Amino acid sequence: MKKITLLGSTGSIGKQTIEVAREQNIKICAIGAKQNIKLLESQIREFKPSLCAVVDESAGKELKSRVSDTDTKVIIGEDAPSIVARESDGDILLNSLMGKCGIAPTLEAIKTKKDIAMANKEPLVAAGDIILRAVKENGVKLLPVDSEHSAIFQCLDTSHNSPDFIKRLIITASGGPFFNKTRQDLEKVTLKDALSHPTWSMGAKITVDSATLMNKGLEVIEAVRLFGVPEDRIDVTVHRQSIVHSMVEFCDGSILAQMGHPDMKHCISFALNYPERKETLCEKLDFTKSFSLTFDCPDEDTFSLLSLARRCVKKGGNAPAIMNSANEEAVKLFLQEKIRFIDIFDVVEEAVVALPFRENITLESLEEDDRLAREYVRKRMHKLF
Ligand code: MG
Repeated sequence: MKKITLLGSTGSIGKQTIEVAREQNIKICAIGAKQNIKLLESQIREFKPSLCAVVDESAGKELKSRVSDTDTKVIIGEDAPSIVARESDGDILLNSLMGKCGIAPTLEAIKTKKDIAMANKEPLVAAGDIILRAVKENGVKLLPVDSEHSAIFQCLDTSHNSPDFIKRLIITASGGPFFNKTRQDLEKVTLKDALSHPTWSMGAKITVDSATLMNKGLEVIEAVRLFGVPEDRIDVTVHRQSIVHSMVEFCDGSILAQMGHPDMKHCISFALNYPERKETLCEKLDFTKSFSLTFDCPDEDTFSLLSLARRCVKKGGNAPAIMNSANEEAVKLFLQEKIRFIDIFDVVEEAVVALPFRENITLESLEEDDRLAREYVRKRMHKLF
């Protein structure tokens, strides 16, 4: 039986992974989160992991005393997820941390020969080259958990891994709550509007990214990294029903699509059990009832972050990392209701243009670029309000 290290265990994907583990009797040997100790405590009592990481110092201390009657060792601090990723005896790390803080734990897990089930897209966007090099050097598997990439991975699994057979990847997008809206409409968007996603239930940051289509931009970059297909051979189509999770067109014109009821537990179960499959309790598509599937062209002029992401991955170097950090900071300010929805588009683009380009990236240069991008966004937005 596979043993899993689950980082980000209290977030949306983390909680759904817990449900899959419960249904399929999967052993969770280590967990970790930022600060939700109430939920961490109940996960410790249910799954009896040997290690638990808590990033927040005071929350960590409180959890330590609350679970002192158990055998779980609580590790506290900024480095706790990395320590747990390294020291746990899991076969696979499911990384559902949020943002670029998932880079270091991913690398630690790879170095200790754990496969990676990746639900955290920002490390691949910001530090894709570094992570892919480590995956290759250590001979581990990198399995996508993002629904689109899981779909493409499943379609490609039939092609004997020959890149010559792939013509195009077609990533589906729900279009978010503002499909068909104009830039003027977007100026009036409130936080509540942005947080109501039509089909997927997700955390706040990714829900805002879905509303701006930044999420689709990050996914195009993620697909470039994972499948080695250039961005001009990756199309995005708006598919409101979120039934087709993505598609691959092969050189002979044949297109394979992966479909299912929109439920992340499919993707989690696939990654955790690969190359096998196990039954899930997810709702199944019912073809005895009629339903329609529609596909529309995305508006990349209004939702300009999608075309910005394409330009950044084409440019390479630190451009995707700057875009990602600027977006993380802008979304944070929007969630605090300090900036408007529309400001996210402009300030992220401005940060990419204004900050110095670096061809070669290292973990140190990424830290510096992250600091510069966040500072740029805060200063620029402070002037506006
Ligand atoms: Mg996705």
